Amino acid sequence: MDSSSELEAENHKLRQQLESLLREARSNEDKMRRFEQLEHRLIGARSMADLLRLLLNEYRDSFGIDCVTLALLDRDQETSGLLDAERPRDDQAERAQLDGLTLLHSLTPIEDLFQDLGHPSLGPFNEALHRPLFGTPSPALASVALLPLSRHGELIGSLHFGSIDPSRYERAAGTQLLERLAAIVSICLDNAINHERLKRAGLSDMLTGVHNRRYFEHRSQIEVSQARRYQHDLACLFLDLDHFKTVNDSFGHAAGDTVLQRIAHIIQSQLRVGDTVARFGGEEFVVLLPQAPAQHARDIAERIRLSISATPLALPGGEIVPISVSIGLAMLATGHLSGEPKTLAQTLVNEADRALYSAKAGGRNRVVCSSPEPRLGESLSAVRQAV
Ligand code: GH3
Ligand code: MG
Ligand code: MG
Repeated sequence: MDSSSELEAENHKLRQQLESLLREARSNEDKMRRFEQLEHRLIGARSMADLLRLLLNEYRDSFGIDCVTLALLDRDQETSGLLDAERPRDDQAERAQLDGLTLLHSLTPIEDLFQDLGHPSLGPFNEALHRPLFGTPSPALASVALLPLSRHGELIGSLHFGSIDPSRYERAAGTQLLERLAAIVSICLDNAINHERLKRAGLSDMLTGVHNRRYFEHRSQIEVSQARRYQHDLACLFLDLDHFKTVNDSFGHAAGDTVLQRIAHIIQSQLRVGDTVARFGGEEFVVLLPQAPAQHARDIAERIRLSISATPLALPGGEIVPISVSIGLAMLATGHLSGEPKTLAQTLVNEADRALYSAKAGGRNRVVCSSPEPRLGESLSAVRQAV
């Protein structure tokens, strides 16, 4: 071979190497993009069940993994409590979607899988060691990646990926993305569990899962202080279900409970992250809308009212419950508000409650805004007239 053909052969080899590197870079880039998309969705997951579904189903589908399972420690029934509260009791389809989840009473089945909590363990499938993690039936797996999930330095569970391809999870493969995934999943689980703790600490309403009156009273003072300090609007809605006694009388108390849960969900679905919804008591809910000018608050109230009267509430037995809501709206306008936040917050709620009474008197299923009459005491009415 003369030197020019040697050079040509060398060139050809280099070009091939370059092309293969570029292909790999492109594939990595694509993987990274999909990974980041999933990561965003994990962080944005609104509930424990959503989080688990993303991991068990979407991650598997998006990355073409043959088998994904998850084991979670459930020592004080926190996780099962969260899942039960979120999941409609009779929904078989939802339950099936969480296939692959095992709740553990102790860490014994997983604690020996990891040398240290910061690193996933990759390698060939081992029947004795790994079968209990993936269960039967599962495809004939050849390689696995096991990700430790930890919280405050302690193992809380593990996420398992299994592949029929022996080279997919090789011992020597890079694990940066898997480490990152394990960290994010651990944080998201931690968040969901903290939410449950808060609930148990008595700030949430056990039936509907929204905040309770105690939390609302605390929160409304903070919102009033903030509104005053930054001269923001603050709107308060007082909602009361119409003829709810008839719902109980016609369909039973348990059906009434289901309706309350659905209503709480509908209200919540119309709000922004910074808004607060609480069950004030019985069939009454209150909402705080920070930085919402009167017209905007009214639009939100209308949206809630319409979505309740327009959504047929079907009970598990198939009966349709006609339901509507009356809403009173009051504004704490910006201005020279004086007085204690506690008093101002109470006055705001009372004002919304009075508007609610007008909505009831006016025929129900409507929104009434509090009149700017000086019923509230001088400071508030003075401000309201200035708007
Ligand atoms: P209005 O349109 O005037 O508000 O009529 P209403 O029937 O909704 O009002 P009323 O105050 O007469 O009745 C409220 C009903 O709400 C009575 C009570 O049994 C029911 N209720 C309160 N808390 C709960 C609960 O936790 N679960 C169920 N199922 N019902 C509840
Ligand atoms: Mg009532
Ligand atoms: Mg009522």
